[in-house]
Amino acid sequence: MASDAEAVELIIRRLKEDRIPEAPFPEEIAEKKKRPRQVAFMDVNLCYPCGKCPEFCPVGCIEYLPEASLPGRGLSPVQDRFQECIGCFICVEVCALLTDYDAVRMYNTDFVEQLLGVEIGDNKPEPHVPAKAYEEYFSDGGSKSVRHLGQGSRIREKMTKEDRQAMGWAK
Ligand code: SF4
Ligand code: SF4
Repeated sequence: MASDAEAVELIIRRLKEDRIPEAPFPEEIAEKKKRPRQVAFMDVNLCYPCGKCPEFCPVGCIEYLPEASLPGRGLSPVQDRFQECIGCFICVEVCALLTDYDAVRMYNTDFVEQLLGVEIGDNKPEPHVPAKAYEEYFSDGGSKSVRHLGQGSRIREKMTKEDRQAMGWAK
């Protein structure tokens, strides 16, 4: 079975082949330099914080939420600082293909701006804006949930038999 790092290498190769619109190649950057077409949000009700997507986000914008943001939870889930997200899809694929949770979706940037009343620019904001749960919007069953409008894995259905074997992936 492939290690997580090897599996993520494979995921990145397949994402490149899939030509993500306007997304830069993640290994070439460490910080957002261009407004992405889509940004990620985690469904905090689905995230069992395995720690995989924070490890592999190329700009390090996924953080564990403070316990107070979701009272009563044993383990705090993760959420990304969407203003820093480059729209690379890695967290979506990592969660969909390397965990049982499928907690992450990508949302059109224009849509997110309207929904949250924010502007998403070419650079990350200074000072940085901490992540929030956004449970009502991006979690299944939230009071204003738009999770069904998000895009999940782009490559799951395109994985070859060899890919599946390489990843030790039986799903
Ligand atoms: S990979 Fe999925 S389950 Fe794991 S921390 Fe990220 S969002 Fe949560
Ligand atoms: S899509 Fe996910 S992995 Fe990529 S920059 Fe955004 S939060 Fe990080």
